[in-house]
Amino acid sequence: MTDLKGLVRTIPDYPKPGILFRDVTTLLGDAQGFKATVAQMAETWRNEPVDAVAGIEARGFILGGAIADRLGCGFIPIRKKGKLPYKTIGQDYQLEYGVDIIEMHEDACRAGERILIVDDLIATGGTAEAAVKLIRRSQGDVLGATFIIDLPDLGGMSKLKKHGVTCHALMAFEGH
Ligand code: AMP
Repeated sequence: MTDLKGLVRTIPDYPKPGILFRDVTTLLGDAQGFKATVAQMAETWRNEPVDAVAGIEARGFILGGAIADRLGCGFIPIRKKGKLPYKTIGQDYQLEYGVDIIEMHEDACRAGERILIVDDLIATGGTAEAAVKLIRRSQGDVLGATFIIDLPDLGGMSKLKKHGVTCHALMAFEGH
């Protein structure tokens, strides 16, 4: 068994003092590690009726595309503001200082479609919560949200669960 947690690189004080950045590029760069990560993330949802995977830019694209392929469903990109070419709907969310906006094509998710949200890591849950809102505004059904890493001390999964979203992560790291 590949030690997936051991393949995550921790960078102290990035992007600012006090943050332990959990860098998954070392995990994704390892052939066995990447394969096992995608396989395990997809396996959790294997028997769920997923119509599409919604990946959050940018690391959610790498994982989400591979997971969608495994589940045999489509892929919806959720991007930073101004990146998508067609008509979009946007949702703002709180950052530590200020707000940011993510967007989705207005026709990317059809009413009743069951969507699995994918990102590499959940911290405060602000980004994933905004993705939930975008999908629900399109009348989509958020089936769940899945991550490689959960930072439980930051409460993101609790936040999503309050919205009735089923969450899953392959591993957790204590602290920030
Ligand atoms: P949040 O909205 O607070 O849940 O933050 C989640 C997003 O920020 C994800 O897309 C992560 O890639 C990134 N992120 C937040 N905190 C970290 C961290 N400690 N290490 C690596 N990425 C992080």
